[in-house]
Amino acid sequence: MSRIPRIVILGAGYGGIVTAIRLQKELNYNEADVTLVNKHDYHYITTHLHMPAAGTDNPEKARVDISKLIDEFKVDFVKATVLQIKPQEKKIILADSTLSYDYLVIGLGGEPETFGIPGLLDYAMNIRSINSVRFIREHIEYQFAKYKREPFRKDYLTFVVGGAGFTGIEFVGELADRVPELCKEFDVDPSLVKIYNVEAAPTALPPGFPTDLVEYAINALTNKGVIFKFSTAIKECTQDGVVLANGEVIKSSTVIWTGGVRGNRILEEAGFETARGRVKVDQYLRTNEYDNVYVVGDCSIVMNDEGRPYPPTAQIATQQGDVVAHNLVASIRNTAPKSFKFSNKGTVASLGKNEAVGVVGSSKIKGFSASLMKKAIDLRYLYIIGGIPLVIKKGKFF
Ligand code: FAD
Ligand code: NAD
Repeated sequence: MSRIPRIVILGAGYGGIVTAIRLQKELNYNEADVTLVNKHDYHYITTHLHMPAAGTDNPEKARVDISKLIDEFKVDFVKATVLQIKPQEKKIILADSTLSYDYLVIGLGGEPETFGIPGLLDYAMNIRSINSVRFIREHIEYQFAKYKREPFRKDYLTFVVGGAGFTGIEFVGELADRVPELCKEFDVDPSLVKIYNVEAAPTALPPGFPTDLVEYAINALTNKGVIFKFSTAIKECTQDGVVLANGEVIKSSTVIWTGGVRGNRILEEAGFETARGRVKVDQYLRTNEYDNVYVVGDCSIVMNDEGRPYPPTAQIATQQGDVVAHNLVASIRNTAPKSFKFSNKGTVASLGKNEAVGVVGSSKIKGFSASLMKKAIDLRYLYIIGGIPLVIKKGKFF
C-alpha cells in the first residue's frame, strides 16, 4: 500500500467513538485517512437513556455533538446512514454516496431482539436512541392527557415493560419516580397508575447477578409501585396491550420492549457469519473472513473463558475501541497487534433516584452508595471521551 491507507469507522457509538478518539491521538500526520460515519451528528450516551425515556432527565443531556469529540483536522466526519457493506469490494454504500476503505471498523450497535413475537415491531417502543426516548416520554405524557379527556379509559394509565433485564429494571425505576410528578401535573389519582414489568424468567436481572441484590432491587422497585410478573412471557403485543403466555391480557397503550438486543442487520446482509446479527471476532477483534475488517460493540461477539459470549455492554465496547485503534496503528506501522482481553470493572444498575445495585470488583453495593458509584462510572466515561469540559456540561452530579 504506497498511498495513505484509508480507515473507515461505521457508527459513533461507544465502540466507534473511542476508536476514532484513540486513532486521532495515536496516528501521526499523513499516516492514515480516518473517516467516521454516523447517521446523526451527535453521539448519544445510551447508558443514560432510561432517564429521558421516563422524563426524569432532558434528552439533551444524553447527546454530545460529534464535532466536540473529534479533531476534524484528523478525522473526517460524514453524517450519513450506512445502507450496505461490501467487504469483497472494500466499499460502503451510504444513503447518498459510496466510500472505499483499506481498513474498516464496524460499530453500528444493536437492534431490539423481538424473537419473532407478533406485534412487538408494530406496537411496542424501544429505548434505543435520542429519538426513540423522546417519543416514549411524549407518549407517556400524552396518555395522562388522554385519560383526562376519557376518564373511563383507565388503561391509558397502565404501562407495560417487557423484560426485567438491566434496561427494563432501570427504566421502571425512573418511570416509578416520574409518575408522582405526572399525577400532580395532570391531576390524576396515583392509585390508578399501573407499571407492570413482565419477565419470562423466574426473577429479575441476568443469571449470575447476586441473588441478594436481585431481591433488593425487586423490593425497592415494588415499594415504588412497580408490579412484577415473573415466569410470564409476553406472547403477543397488540394495539390494545399485551397477551401473556398464561393467557392473561394486560390492556395498555404503552408497551416498552426491553427483552434483549441483537446485532445490526447490516452485518448479516453483508455476508459475515453472524449469530443473532453479531459477528464472532478473533483475538484482534477482526472478522474471520477479512483481516482488514474489525467489529466492536453490540455487533461483535467476544467469548469469555467458559466459551460463552460476554453480554453486550458499553464497557466492553469502549475497551474494544481502544484495542482496535491500537491494532490499526500496529497494522499500518507493521508492529505487534494486541489481543483483546475484557477487563470487567463491574456492573451497577440504577433503580431510580438515589437507588442502585451493583458489583464492583469483589464488592456488592446497594442503595445510595451504589447510585453514587453509578454516577461516578458515567462521569468517568464522559471524561474519557471529552475531558473535564464534557463532564461539566453533561455530567449528572446529583
Ligand atoms: P451504540 O452505542 O448503540 O452506537 C451505535 C451507533 O451507530 C449509533 O451512534 C447509531 O446512531 C449508529 N448507527 C446505527 N446504525 C447506523 C447506520 N445504518 N448508519 C449510520 N449510523 C448508524 N452498558 C454498560 O456497560 N453500562 C450501562 O450502564 C449500560 N446502560 C444501558 C442503559 C440502557 C437504557 C441501554 C439501552 C443500554 C445500556 N447499556 C449499558 C448497553 C450499552 O449502551 C451498549 O452495549 C452500547 O451502547 C453498545 O455500544 P456500540 O458502540 O456497539 O453501539
Ligand atoms: P437482556 O437481554 O439483558 O434482558 C432481556 C430480558 O427480557 C431477559 O431477562 C429476558 O428473560 C426477558 N425476556 C425475553 N423475552 C421475553 C418475553 N417474551 N417476555 C418477557 N420477558 C422476556 O437485555 P437488556 O436488559 O436490554 O440489556 C442489554 C445489554 O445491555 C446487556 O448486556 C446488559 O448488561 C446491558 N445493560 C447494562 C446496564 C448496566 O450495566 N447498568 C443497563 C442496561 C443494559
